[in-house]
Amino acid sequence: MRMGKSDFDVIVVGAGFAGLYMLHKLRQLGLSACVLEKAGDVGGTWYWNRYPGARCDIESVEYSYSFSPELEQEWQWTERYASQPEILRYLQHVADRFDLRRDIRFSTTVAGARWDESGQLWHVATDGGEELTARFCVFSTGCLSSPNKPQIEGLDSFGGETYLTGLWPHEGVDFNGKRVAVIGTGSSGIQSIPVIARQVDRVTVFQRTPSFVVPAQNRALEASELAEIRQGYRQLREEARHTVGGVARGAAPSPRPALETPPDELRRELDERWEFGGLGGFLNSHPDSFIDARAAERIADYLRDRVRGIVKDPATAELLCPTTYPVNSKRLCVDTGYFDTFNRDNVELVDLNANPIRQVTPNGVLAGDHVYDVDIIVLATGFDAMTGSLGKIDIRGRDNLALADKWSAGPRTYLGLMSGGFPNMFIITGPGSPSVLSNMVTSIEQHVEWIGQLLSDMAERGQALIEPRPEAEDVWTTHVTAVAEPTIFMQADSWYLGANVPGKPRVFMPYVGGVGTYRAICDALAADGYPGFVIDGQGKTALPDFFSFLRAPE
Ligand code: FAD
Ligand code: NAP
Repeated sequence: MRMGKSDFDVIVVGAGFAGLYMLHKLRQLGLSACVLEKAGDVGGTWYWNRYPGARCDIESVEYSYSFSPELEQEWQWTERYASQPEILRYLQHVADRFDLRRDIRFSTTVAGARWDESGQLWHVATDGGEELTARFCVFSTGCLSSPNKPQIEGLDSFGGETYLTGLWPHEGVDFNGKRVAVIGTGSSGIQSIPVIARQVDRVTVFQRTPSFVVPAQNRALEASELAEIRQGYRQLREEARHTVGGVARGAAPSPRPALETPPDELRRELDERWEFGGLGGFLNSHPDSFIDARAAERIADYLRDRVRGIVKDPATAELLCPTTYPVNSKRLCVDTGYFDTFNRDNVELVDLNANPIRQVTPNGVLAGDHVYDVDIIVLATGFDAMTGSLGKIDIRGRDNLALADKWSAGPRTYLGLMSGGFPNMFIITGPGSPSVLSNMVTSIEQHVEWIGQLLSDMAERGQALIEPRPEAEDVWTTHVTAVAEPTIFMQADSWYLGANVPGKPRVFMPYVGGVGTYRAICDALAADGYPGFVIDGQGKTALPDFFSFLRAPE
């Protein structure tokens, strides 16, 4: 096999949680690597999403790297759910501590990546016209990194200020005394609205679909609590790796299915989960609520009652109660004071189902027959999830195959890690892996470590080239859909299904099999010589036995 000389062993695209750890791992393996990052600094999600109120929905002691026990012991989280500035400081600290910045080129957008068959290299083109080459290419471009600007007539003619939550200005926004419209009531809207409402003259919330929301129950972390966590940190992390959601500190699993629990008992249990707070409170709640809409409805009833208990105006409370999709079919939103915000005099809720936005005028928003004059519009309208950032890059594999064309009917991957026809190209937390259904740092670390192990095994065996077998990719893609099919995830117009982006194929993208099961599959494949992959033109077939891995106990 003829191989050209490359600038680097590996080019990594993106410097969020995934890209930073990938770079560190590659250095540990003795490989030369370069990270290309569009932003001016590290942080990814936490660099871009600086909107007021942004914070994590998984406890920070778990929404953080586990790869370095020293880092784990020295970093002081100040709150149970850290705010965006604190998470960004953490990632900046990681970059400094492991001296990562010297191999990262910031303010560099990757425009294209082309596989060169004769040289067996990736040619990666930047928006500045530069071309770099590498034997391997890793896309750690993020699942929620391509913000969705809605197509609303007149939006660009608005005379005031317009901000997307996912592209928030670094200097912040002066809301003092302003009239503000917030469009969108997913997690980003729900986190930002209470904070914005405290600063402004008036905020008008434009809601198309209400969300199911659980309280963060955020608080300062006591030194004694942190010390206790640190003592058992290694064990905690190991446990998390084998759970469904990548979280070990959540409330205990429910002892019985929701449908078999007497109503009083169910309410008591959900009260406890509500008091526990955050996603951790509800991740282990009643597995039947993920497959049976009637079970989901019992939990939904509870959450709606909570809304009615907080929001004083009954009509507003009803508008805030989701009724058109099952609970858990979208990632639960985690709030701090969201519903109580609607008890303020300066907050108004507009139901877009009764009064659709007709256009944005130079002075405000025309919804139904009413013009809402505003100074600022905040677009909390979400992301082109999982495939959005990859789709903006012109990625060409063998025979000039475009990834966008190959995925035109939906993403096709083996394990969410690789796609056939794109040799030596990896995706971190790609479609077909647990990814956005989990604590994403747990899932990112698992992918980085698996890729690292693979590259090390290949180097040891003198191997240079890997890609999935088409049959393996077919089996995996079918499996990802098959396990999602019976779940309530299929019953919502969610971004998991691409339903929030006009024209996007409706395919369930993440893998619902759970973090622990998925890890067991990946580990079993690695231990067995990577069946399903072609390595240097050869590969174990072993596809008939493939799904025996799925039956392996967690
Ligand atoms: P990202 O952090 O998205 O980083 C990707 C990087 O790639 C970005 O810096 C981007 O600029 C860069 N990039 C993309 N395209 C290009 C290109 N063409 N050229 C160069 N660079 C490029 N998950 C959780 O588990 N818990 C949470 O609490 C949580 N909270 C979240 C809150 C918000 C507001 C959002 C939007 C997401 C949240 N997530 C959460 C998901 C979050 O995205 C992940 O947890 C994690 O931060 C992803 O890290 P990443 O490195 O994979 O991707
Ligand atoms: P989202 O969940 O997709 O919510 C977008 C909101 O905008 C929805 O209410 C949507 O309404 C609305 N919308 C979109 N286009 C619209 C239009 N043209 N007119 C009116 N309304 C419109 O996006 P997100 O809130 O940014 O959250 C995305 C994901 O990021 C979350 O699920 C989570 O995984 C992650 N996140 C996590 C946190 C956290 O708590 N740590 C915070 C933010 C984000 P419809 O539902 O009707 O389409």
